[in-house]
Amino acid sequence: MIYNDQNVFAKILRKEIPCEKILENNFILSFNDISPKAKIHVLVIPKSPYIDVYDFNKNAPKEEVTGFWNGVNETIEKLQIENNGFQLKIHKGETGGQEVFHFHVHILSND
Ligand code: AMP
Repeated sequence: MIYNDQNVFAKILRKEIPCEKILENNFILSFNDISPKAKIHVLVIPKSPYIDVYDFNKNAPKEEVTGFWNGVNETIEKLQIENNGFQLKIHKGETGGQEVFHFHVHILSND
């Protein structure tokens, strides 16, 4: 599989479609999920094009991996849920529940 830059998150990164932004820096963009499955449901995506978590882990330079996970924590702090309970979810592949083929982490919290 090769990365398809017509996926919805690539379009959000290019500002072709809007999002409810939580945080943006050199490495990540985080925004509200359009169809929330918890009181807080935020997606964090890397700015670089990776299809899924396996592609990201295998091919992203260390700086991007660190930048991504720092971005997840910064988003958690922006949401002010760092002392609450939350889930991080990653779907990989169609049979793993992945619908959008640009790597992303779901942050879910009902606290
Ligand atoms: P996944 O099933 O892990 O690929 O998750 C894809 C997520 O993207 C789903 O939870 C969708 O609700 C969400 N989603 C799809 N389109 C948009 C959009 N335009 N803006 C925000 N979230 C979206």
